[in-house]
Order: sequence, then structure tokens, then C-alpha cells
Amino acid sequence: MFFVLMSSSVTADLFLYGGHILTLDPYHPQAEAVAIADGKILAVGSVSELQPFLSSHTERLSCVGQTVLPGFIDPHLHLLSWASRYSGADASTARSIPELQLALQQQLTRASANAWVRGYGYDEFLLAEKRHPTKHDLDAVTRERPILLRHRTGHAAVLNSRALELAGIEHDSAFSEGVLFEMEPFLRTAVPQLSADALEDGVRRVGQELLHQGVTSFHDASAGNTLEDLALFQRFHSESMVASRATVMIGINAFSQVLEASLSPFSGDDWVRLGSIKIMVHESRGLLSPSPEELAEMIERVHRHGFQVAVHAVEEAPVCIALDGIARAVQRWPRPDPRHRLEHCSICPPPFLDILRDTGSIVVTQPGFLHFYGEKYAAEVPQDLHPWLYRTKSFLDCGIHVAGSSDCPIAPLAPLLGIQAAMTRRASSGASLNPEEALDLSSALALFTTAGAWVGFEETTKGRIAPGFAADLVILDGEVLRIPPQDIGTMQVAKTIIGGKVVWSKALE
Ligand SMILES: [Zn+2]
Repeated sequence: MFFVLMSSSVTADLFLYGGHILTLDPYHPQAEAVAIADGKILAVGSVSELQPFLSSHTERLSCVGQTVLPGFIDPHLHLLSWASRYSGADASTARSIPELQLALQQQLTRASANAWVRGYGYDEFLLAEKRHPTKHDLDAVTRERPILLRHRTGHAAVLNSRALELAGIEHDSAFSEGVLFEMEPFLRTAVPQLSADALEDGVRRVGQELLHQGVTSFHDASAGNTLEDLALFQRFHSESMVASRATVMIGINAFSQVLEASLSPFSGDDWVRLGSIKIMVHESRGLLSPSPEELAEMIERVHRHGFQVAVHAVEEAPVCIALDGIARAVQRWPRPDPRHRLEHCSICPPPFLDILRDTGSIVVTQPGFLHFYGEKYAAEVPQDLHPWLYRTKSFLDCGIHVAGSSDCPIAPLAPLLGIQAAMTRRASSGASLNPEEALDLSSALALFTTAGAWVGFEETTKGRIAPGFAADLVILDGEVLRIPPQDIGTMQVAKTIIGGKVVWSKALE
């Protein structure tokens, strides 16, 4: 037996055997069988070695023809905005404005009589017209009922005439076409919230989708989160709406709440925990918001209180000032292993790698974006920036930790497609993006398992199949070692196990 056993007097509740077990433990990457007891992994080894742990109460699960992996960890998604999408038209598949209008027309007939008609997920790049829809396009669907159509990224929204009127901005010349950029905080107050029932229904569907895709832990990365949201996630867990384990970031604007409540970093339990403090940095028409000095002060404040900061930075200038701010905080107030996070870090030229490494920071990247939006990057990202686009291998070669996430609903939750894209560096159309950054299978799997655990300071309890680790596992149909990288995204999750319990099974769908 190649693993240390916790205690030979305990017998297993669950025993997995017959499949290909990839442990993500670099010293013992493969095994024949796993024994689980009390929600944790008891022993890992060969079938004969694990016999002493079996008893009459042990449930035996054959995994012949299947692959067993640690459960996927998605360290950056937005659960509530994802859940809200189930209450509107899915505009993400529209490839023209008439298709968008059709989707909204169908939603109009479904939505109750006085509710807003909502649509989510359009992308002007994917529309034949190559432009944002306008209020005129939406008025053609209805002028009587308000329509709110949100862009895939959440950075833009389109309102029809009735919606502009209800929001009180129908005479504002800035919105004469009905297209609003970076106005989400305004929309949150101007547009009625979804009903609690509609939101809960969405949360339940999201909870199922997480299990269906093998995501056993996630971090909610919403910058608007407050302690009330943390309490909401606790309710989602206690009412069995979301079975996956949640780490909930809190936005910088609510950081005072955290301090006033005297919460320590990552406080909570095995199911719902406080996460890092989220700061957004945007660049718009050459202006950075917040300014470099403001950002550095925010980072320093979070850092000095012992919390992990998570800075959203996409373009080169925001990434640059985020790294400067982190470096300043870490130099002025050294503390062991701060593990500050850069969310996206989409353009990362060579000098930034040194700062990332020297400050012990982590990049949380989205390989799935290459698959879903690679065509757009190929067309719109200037050629000279391509070598720095969504890097992964360079980070690893430099000793920088990098984790993979979906950013759902900005892109679909699809960890297997993320693994595929990290290996192939190809868009769904086949276009190749910066192939020097391609990872091998074990590094790509690590992005969504061990690295996700590292991000949340959970590397000794999650992300590997090893004794003492949480029994959070995903079982895939097929053998991932034999499947060509470009087909990994088509693999199906057969079962998802959290805390030693089968919480989702394809056979029961
Ligand atoms: Zn995000």
C-alpha cells in the first residue's frame, strides 16, 4: 500500500474500485481503489491492500471504464447573477438581432403580466450585425412592457423605451439608443429585483448544475457581496439548495462590515466560509478606476488586516497597478504566505511574472474563455499582445500558482471544457491562441483541483485523493488518459460525491 492509513480500526462507508483513479498526488498519481469513511478519504491503494477496510456495511461502487478524480474546484463564479439568468431569455446563443428579438418575444409570453422581460448573455461580437442592439430593436418586441437585456459580461445592458421611462432616464441624451455601459449599480436600484421565488428557483437549478458538472467546491467572486450575501449562502446550504461547498468573497465596500463583525479570514465551516476581499479595477478610455493610489490603499488595508485580496484586473494597465499595489502592501507589511489573488490577469507581459512570483500571488484564470470567446480574442486583441494572453504554462514554469475557473455566468460552467482548452488553446471554431501556453493533462487537471484548493488555503484538505482529505470526488464516464485533449470537454460526469455521499448521479437524471 503506498499511502499512509489513518486508522486501521475504522472500516469504509464507501469503496470505489475498478476504475482509473487519478489522485493528483504527484508522488502517487494513480491508484486502483479508494476507501471513504466519515466524509473523508480513509485509504488509497490497490484493491487487495484495501480489503481490511471493508465490512458488511461498506457500499461498493464499481467504476469500470470510468475515471475518478478529485471534485472540481471553481474559485471564481457568480452564483446569484447566474441564478437570475434562469428567469429570463437566454440570449447567449443568438447570432443576429432578429434571433435576439425572437428569444425576447418568447420570454414576453412566458413572463407574468407585470414583470420586466429579461434577457441575458448577448455578445455583439457574435451577432451578424456586429453591434449592440438598441432600444429600437427591443421596442420592436414590445413598447408596452419593459425589457432589460444584459450583455454576457455584465458590463453593458440595453433597455427598451418603456424600461428607460421606468428607470427615469428616457430624456437623458447619454442613453438615447438605450445602451448602458458600466451601469450595473444603477440598474440594481432602478430595475425591480427578481422575486424571491424566481431567484430561489434559479439557485436550485444552479445547485444542480454544479453537481452535474462535478464542481464540489466554488468561490463566489461577486464584488457586490456583503455579509448579508454570506448569510444567504448559509441558507442555500442549510435548505439543501446548493450542496457544493461555498467560499464567499466580500466586496471591498463591505469590508468594514467584516471588521466590525470581528470575522477572521476564511471563518465559517466546511460548507460555507468567508472568502477573500474583492476589488474591481477597470480601464475605460485610458482612465483607471480606482486610481493607482486608491487601489494601493485598498489593498494595503485588506492586507494589514490579514485578509486575502482578490483583484479583478483584465487589461495590461489594471494588472500593472494591481501588482504594484500588492507589491507595496507586501513590502511594507510583510507576512508569511499572503497568497493574494489576481482575477483574470488576461494580459501579463514578462516583467509582471517576477512580481507575481516575488509577492507569492496567485492568478485565477479562465481557460474556458479561450474555447467560448477565442474567436473574439483572435480578432480584437492586438497581435503584439497575443504572447501575453491568458498565460498558464509561463506561470507554472516561473513557479507561480495558477488556478482555473469558469467565471460563470460570464462563460458557461464547464470545467471539462476548461481542462480541454488549457491543453489545446483552441477556440470552439478551432482557432489557435498562444499555443506556447498549452498545458499537459496533469497540469490542466491541477488547475481545477489542487490549484483551486491552494487558492483557498485548503491544499491539505481538498483537491487530491489522499488519506485525510475530504471525500469530494467526480467520476467521469470514459478514461481521461486515453481521450484526445480536444474531446475532453465532451466527457460526461457519471457521479459527483461530496463528503463521501453520492450527491448526483447521471443514472438518476
Ligand atoms: Zn467574475
